Amino acid sequence: MKIKKIIILGSTGSIGINTLDVIRGLGSNYDVVGLSAGRNIGRFIKQIKEFSPKIVVLGDESRKREFENKLKSVKHKPLKVLYGMQGLITLARYRGANFLISALVGSVGLIPTLEAIKSGKDIALANKEALVVAGDIITENARKYGVKILPLDSEHSAVFQCLQGADIRSVKKIILTASGGPFYRYPDSRLRKVSVQEALNHPTWQMGEKVTVDSANLMNKGLEIIEAHHLFGMDIDKIDVLIHAQSVIHSLVEFIDGSVLAQMGIPDMRVPIQYALTYPERKSSKLRCLSLSEYGKLTFEKPDFTKFPCLELALRAAGKGGTMPVVLNAANEVAVQAFLSGKISFPDIPVIVRSMMDKHKITRKPSLEVILQTDKETRDKVYSVLLERKA
Ligand code: MG
Repeated sequence: MKIKKIIILGSTGSIGINTLDVIRGLGSNYDVVGLSAGRNIGRFIKQIKEFSPKIVVLGDESRKREFENKLKSVKHKPLKVLYGMQGLITLARYRGANFLISALVGSVGLIPTLEAIKSGKDIALANKEALVVAGDIITENARKYGVKILPLDSEHSAVFQCLQGADIRSVKKIILTASGGPFYRYPDSRLRKVSVQEALNHPTWQMGEKVTVDSANLMNKGLEIIEAHHLFGMDIDKIDVLIHAQSVIHSLVEFIDGSVLAQMGIPDMRVPIQYALTYPERKSSKLRCLSLSEYGKLTFEKPDFTKFPCLELALRAAGKGGTMPVVLNAANEVAVQAFLSGKISFPDIPVIVRSMMDKHKITRKPSLEVILQTDKETRDKVYSVLLERKA
C-alpha cells in the first residue's frame, strides 16, 4: 500500500491522543508527518519526541517563547515550527502529507480542513462543527478535488460501515443512536443544579469536554444529524435518533427492502479511528472485542424532545438551513464554554442558543465569508449577553 503520511490537527485532544495510539499499532505504513496542538505544551512535546513529525503548529501564539524553550530542552529531529491560524493553514496545505485527521474542536477547524481538501488530502473528520456550519462547501470541494471524507464520529463510522457495498438510493433511513448522557433520567428541577463535573462524567464514552457537555444535553446528537445529512447526502427527515444507553450499537441503516444493518462494538473511539485509517481494509487491533453476553440485554427508546430542547433546536436549524446552523453552532460553542467556566447553568445553554436563533435573519446558500461573519457576529452577541448577565 501507499504509505499514509498523516497530519493530525488537534493531536493533544481526545481524538488526537487516540489516533496516535492507533498509529502506534499499525506499523511503518502509517507515518506521522505533522501535528498541531492548542495549549497542552507538555503533552505536545512528548508526542513530537515520539513521532518525529516534520512540521508542527502550536495554536496558542502567546506561548511561543515557552514552547520554544521547552522544545530546545528535548532531543528531536529537525522540525518546522509554526503558530496560530496561519500556521494551521500552512500545515493543512503541507505537500509532504496525503492524509489529514481533522480533530480540532469547533468551527475553528473549518478553514484548515477546507485547505487540506483543496490540497488533495483525504480527510478523516472528527470536527463535526465544520460540517454543521459549512457542510455544503466542504462536500462540494471534496467532490471537486476528488478527496474522500471518512467519518471518525462513532455513529457516522457505523453508518459508513453499514453502507459499504450499498447503493445510497436503497437506503430508507439512517438511525443514529445516543446514550442519552448522564442526565437522561433526571427531572428538570435537578438539571438546573448539575455541576460541570457531573456533566463531564459521561456514562459510556471518554471524550473531550465540549463534546461531553454536548452529549449531556443531546446537542451533540442534533449536530450529528446535520453531520450525517452532509456526509451521506440524506434528507434530514430520513435521519432518526434512538436512545440506546449501553452505546453498543453505534448506529443503524434501514434499507428499502426492510433489512436493517447495525454496527456494534465496545464504546472506544479507537475502533472508528482505525477503520478510517485503514479503510477500505481492516487490520487487527489490540482492543478487546465486544462480548454481548456480558451485556445480557440492550435497551432502546425514543428521545425526549421536551426535556432536551437542544435536539429540537438543532432539528429546527437543520430544517431552516442557510446560516441558521452557523448560529446554532456558534451560540452553542460560546454557551458551552460559559457553562464550563461556571458562568451559566446547564439549562441556560439552550436558552442562549434559542435566543440567538430567534433573532437571526437567514442568508440562503451562504458563501464562506458570510459563514465566517455570521459565526463571529453570533459569538460577539453571546459574549455581550453574558456580560449583561454579569452586570
Ligand atoms: Mg458521536
